[in-house]
Amino acid sequence: RTVYVNGSFVPEDEATVSVFDRGFLFADGVYEVTSVLDGKLVDFAGHCGRLRRSLGELQMTLETTDEELLAIHRKLVSENAIEEGLVYLQVTRGAADRDFVFPPEDTPATLVLFTQAKSLIDSDLANRGQKIFTVEDQRWTRCDIKTVQLLYPSLAKMEAKSRGGDDAWLVRDGLVTEGSSNNAYIVLGDGTIVTRDLSNLILHGITRRAVLECARHLQMKVVERPFTVDEAIGAVEAFSTSASGFVCPVIAIDDNRIGTGEPGPVAGKLREVYIAEMRKSAI
Ligand code: PMP
Repeated sequence: RTVYVNGSFVPEDEATVSVFDRGFLFADGVYEVTSVLDGKLVDFAGHCGRLRRSLGELQMTLETTDEELLAIHRKLVSENAIEEGLVYLQVTRGAADRDFVFPPEDTPATLVLFTQAKSLIDSDLANRGQKIFTVEDQRWTRCDIKTVQLLYPSLAKMEAKSRGGDDAWLVRDGLVTEGSSNNAYIVLGDGTIVTRDLSNLILHGITRRAVLECARHLQMKVVERPFTVDEAIGAVEAFSTSASGFVCPVIAIDDNRIGTGEPGPVAGKLREVYIAEMRKSAI
């Protein structure tokens, strides 16, 4: 595999980053994951926009322009012959003597990108539906910044896996925030789709925005508000969204069957329409 590191395209086993990199020492970095369909990038503008916002919130500067980022993404996709999969991008505050104080302004950011070939449209998890366990949301309260500080979501997912589940939904003050690496939705008996409103407590999903737009086009009713675990357990359907999972149905929460216990029609329709729209607009 060819990867990108600080201006160079190199074979993955020749790519290196300093042991003093602040991403490594402080989790002082941000990332994006963009999916690839038909060899093209899905909602690249959305991911670039969110990257710039994450960087801004952490007073981090990246010299590389959006056009250059697009060219790097495209070169990796073509060099690695990715028809379907993901491009991972990470920016850290660079390498400097270990200190809680930020390094001087002129310290160059570390920019790393790599690809992952992966079947996204034909997904076992989407076909069978996910089993979710709820876990206390113990993350910091700037979940709107896409930092590489992913230890807690990783622990939460491991907890769900150890109970025989596929993923964790995080719960703060009795209300579901989001999944370990996706946004969370329920569908009420009258067809209303409910998902947590945007705030600092969740990541503003790029897929979330596109899927809610699809739902509104399909005349589905959408309400952005918090919901409890009990409300989710009583819902007729549930699902999650993310760049890598698209729309992925949920069939159980904390060992309670959701609806019929099979992937539901709302999630199915949204998945189909989302994929069709993204295939049209990918660049
Ligand atoms: N929430 C969290 C915590 C995530 O990590 C992700 C995916 N990185 C998402 C939501 C979904 O965001 P997106 O649709 O942009 O992939």
